[in-house]
Amino acid sequence: MTATLAPDPVSRPSTPTAAQDCGMCNGQGGSWVTNDGGNPGKIFREWVPCVGCKGTGKVG
Ligand SMILES: [Zn+2]
Repeated sequence: MTATLAPDPVSRPSTPTAAQDCGMCNGQGGSWVTNDGGNPGKIFREWVPCVGCKGTGKVG
């Protein structure tokens, strides 16, 4: 008796929903962009939403 588990490419138990992590931001939804604003010594960090997933981190 052999128990063979054929891989199922369609159903993924680890993902309950169809949404997947965005490949552009790795599911982060965006990235911090460091901008000194032209003022030396003063650093601004701006959150820029990913254009691939519109800041959601997920793509359907
Ligand atoms: Zn993204």
